[in-house]
Amino acid sequence: MQDSSIRHHCGLFGIWGHDEAVPLTHLGLYAQQHRGQESAGIVSTNGEYLLRHAGLGLVNEVFDRKSLEQIRGRVAIGHCRYSTTGACTESNTQPLLFSFASGQVAIAHNGNLINAALLRRNYEEVGHIFQTTSDTEVIIHLLAKPTHRDKDQPLNHVLNHLQGAYSLLLLFPDRMVAVRDPLGFRPLCLGTTECGATVVASETKAFDMIGAKYVREIEPGEIVTITDEGVVSRRFGGDTGGRGAACIFEQIYFADPASLVFGENVHLVRVAMGRRLVKEAPVDADLVVPIPNCGQCAAGGYAQESKIPYGRAFTTSYYTGRSFIMPTQADRDLAVKMKLTVIKEAVAGKRLIVVEDSVVRGTTTRGKIGALRDAGAKEIHLRVASPPIRHACYFGIDFPNPKELIANTRSVDEIRDFLGVDSLHYISHEGMLSCVKMAREKYCTACFSGDYPMDVKEPVEKFALERGQLRMFT
Ligand code: SF4
Repeated sequence: MQDSSIRHHCGLFGIWGHDEAVPLTHLGLYAQQHRGQESAGIVSTNGEYLLRHAGLGLVNEVFDRKSLEQIRGRVAIGHCRYSTTGACTESNTQPLLFSFASGQVAIAHNGNLINAALLRRNYEEVGHIFQTTSDTEVIIHLLAKPTHRDKDQPLNHVLNHLQGAYSLLLLFPDRMVAVRDPLGFRPLCLGTTECGATVVASETKAFDMIGAKYVREIEPGEIVTITDEGVVSRRFGGDTGGRGAACIFEQIYFADPASLVFGENVHLVRVAMGRRLVKEAPVDADLVVPIPNCGQCAAGGYAQESKIPYGRAFTTSYYTGRSFIMPTQADRDLAVKMKLTVIKEAVAGKRLIVVEDSVVRGTTTRGKIGALRDAGAKEIHLRVASPPIRHACYFGIDFPNPKELIANTRSVDEIRDFLGVDSLHYISHEGMLSCVKMAREKYCTACFSGDYPMDVKEPVEKFALERGQLRMFT
């Protein structure tokens, strides 16, 4: 899927106890840039107060040597964002930084709170003034509430008010706190550096980038507090009855193939999905080709299992900018055309198996299939390493409106005809789950199955907080 119909969400990075904490956080965000390209920010502390630098743009556009120097400290948290609730504005860039009666706090969030609008309305009705339109800010209002501050464990109490997906990093002048929601929608990992600093990141690729060692995942429903005295873990959220909601789309599309996510390597999961596709839908052909870049791992798996040679059908240009900011489908199609060029001589007269990670609207895939036909491909058999996407995501992934999802309105045969391929097969739901290692009840697969891991009474539309649509939650 090259058309950015599904947009990435956010990446978190934090480090405690390192002289180069801020430059390393910069690198940690750089390694996770694929998780969010709209804005980036770092908050550091010298042990007395918090310092922040953040802005709109890519990590290398937001920071330079001087800005990193100005927030120097031995502790830092960072965030790169794609907005899933709240617009892409300066005020919504994270980490958000606030002062309240207990002192300063910074917060970075990956996920989506499905009850944020309701919580916010309750606070606004009693006079609270919000500085952002991000769902994340309600967490700080909950934390600042006097009756919550007085609790034995204020953060536990606050987290029990939240519904939805949240991996969080909070920074106070004297401690860093990492949290994963009780169902564990989004990944969050703990690591350590050679000099004994503690690191936290959404993906282990960030650890590799700074030479840190992976220690373990932060568990669903776990709060990890990191101070100069060490790392302390505690639980919150009660018993989920064995249910989890690790987003399986992290494995299919979002996470970097180099990362460990939910305890296993993303590349190997995708290779297994490619192998599974052969078992489910074998076909004789001359060449297995991926749609770059996302279909590469699964295409490799398909080629290994089928013993059909793996090849390239497209070249990729990295210098054409980001297609998702283009406003219309025509603009996005043109951007994809500029990014991908068919290698005519590699495909002319060949029977191709084309492997794609997912099909969303279908329009961009159709364009790529059309380009292969124009180049003289004799047969095209499309194999998709995820089941048909039929439902909305309320947990931090910005899918198009369900009506725009091609599998929501068309059968697989109709999609085959729309895409112009000779055969089409999506991996089965069972097949997908057979390629990951946790038990099936530990994953969210709602965008495929419609089986949501929690009751979603009133989904929060992305710009609801801007448009004053809170009335609909009464
Ligand atoms: S609905 Fe789909 S994209 Fe959203 S959290 Fe669940 S598996 Fe992930």
